[in-house]
Amino acid sequence: MAAPKFGVLALQGDFAAHAAAFRTLGMTAREVRRVAQLDGLDGLMIPGGESTTLLNLMQDEPWFDALHRFHDAGGVLAGTCAGAILLSREVRPHQPSLALLDAIIERNAYGRQVDSFQTVALAPALGGSIDAVFIRAPRFRALWPDVEVLARVEREPVLVRQGRVVAATFHPELTRSPALHRYLAELAAPALVGTTTVNTGNVGGERTAPDQWI
Ligand code: GLN
Repeated sequence: MAAPKFGVLALQGDFAAHAAAFRTLGMTAREVRRVAQLDGLDGLMIPGGESTTLLNLMQDEPWFDALHRFHDAGGVLAGTCAGAILLSREVRPHQPSLALLDAIIERNAYGRQVDSFQTVALAPALGGSIDAVFIRAPRFRALWPDVEVLARVEREPVLVRQGRVVAATFHPELTRSPALHRYLAELAAPALVGTTTVNTGNVGGERTAPDQWI
């Protein structure tokens, strides 16, 4: 099976570390700065950084339309930290978002004292545990029923998946564990795409309500 082709949105933030993590797995990691560079990719990573800055930089081209089309066409979308904020359906305090993940997320939610820290997240879906670096991180405040929790810290969800959308509130690319990047590669492998389209039909819909409040 051919390795999936991943891109890393390279407008702002720590895209280089994500690209390096994919490359250590022997994968392609294209830096994506223009909408047209999404062509031919199986997945895209939206890195951590500053979501407000990212939103400003995304004004230059129709990124929201392009990323919705990329997702509709079967692409995997992953986001870490600021990327997770961008993917979520509702952001607190309010700001625009792609709304491809049925979650409420709150920015900078750890308070000043623990504004940045490193810990180990329990991640049975990723083979046990994963090192997790939190930097002015957001927290998921509510998840809709179609959202699966892949990793937790002290019972709190820090890595979730809904169909082809995966979001982490931490920075997996700043540790030596490539477990999440490997998981994304498996999710984006062309042969698997057809099996990962479940439960994405009502994203952003109004009929359902969160079933997990955090
Ligand atoms: N605090 C940033 C934001 O609100 C996210 C921080 C990060 O990506 N490390 O966008």
